[in-house]
Amino acid sequence: MKGFQQTLKNKISITGQALHCGKDVSVHLIPQPVDTGVLFGRTDLPGKPVLKAVPTNVVDTLRSMTLGTNEWRIQTIEHLMAALHGLKVDNLLVEVDGPELPLGDGSALYFVEKILEAGLVTQDKPRKVRKITSPVAVIDEREPHSYLIALPGKGLRLSYYFTSDHKVTGNQFAQYLISPENFQQEIAPARTIAFYRELEALRQQGLALGGNMDIAVVVGEDSYLNTLRFEDEIVRHKILDLLGDLYLLGPIEGEIIGLRSGHKLDLELALKLESHLE
Ligand SMILES: [Zn+2]
Repeated sequence: MKGFQQTLKNKISITGQALHCGKDVSVHLIPQPVDTGVLFGRTDLPGKPVLKAVPTNVVDTLRSMTLGTNEWRIQTIEHLMAALHGLKVDNLLVEVDGPELPLGDGSALYFVEKILEAGLVTQDKPRKVRKITSPVAVIDEREPHSYLIALPGKGLRLSYYFTSDHKVTGNQFAQYLISPENFQQEIAPARTIAFYRELEALRQQGLALGGNMDIAVVVGEDSYLNTLRFEDEIVRHKILDLLGDLYLLGPIEGEIIGLRSGHKLDLELALKLESHLE
């Protein structure tokens, strides 16, 4: 049934390597009743603490979205959040036995395939989609300036400008009226960007995944160092990150336009939007 809340048909378990700690972590996605939203919990800590994925529970936005409190955190939630947003999974408990979600191949495909394999089940209550009622903007004035603008609109339309003077990537623009279909085929497979120089530096710091070419689109000095999935894969991944971060608000309707924005502005917009949704 269209417009009704959904959860997973069955529990899913996923194991994979986490980027920062380099360890294998196990993730369990557990179906939940209507109106639960998305919860994240740590099973390796005493009392197995759980937090709701909402803007006020974000504690860090440097390089990834991190939920937590003063005592504990879960890092890199954005690609799973994008999968849940794109596939319209409303109610779910995500249990992790470490401080970070696995990175997979740097895209959301990893999670999407598992979720589709398990299947979704329609629940007996309509989804509450909140609409953006008036224009809202967040701006970072530091050079090169970046911004995010939210406007009323039908459906959820995301536009993003990626700008770079790097000769390999150039500038990229993408716009999608998000649906489960275009999310699966055109957005979910897009991998995160990494510059070869940075991977080398990570490797020298002893980080397990540093230098690994299977976790990102790797940009060399003169060319991409692995095969692209899309010519504009980088900007598609920016759309993926934005979609994941916006899911901190639950299902929303409207138009979002980003210029060079990242997790920090995504969170600022989400916090500001709370009072402009109905
Ligand atoms: Zn990302």
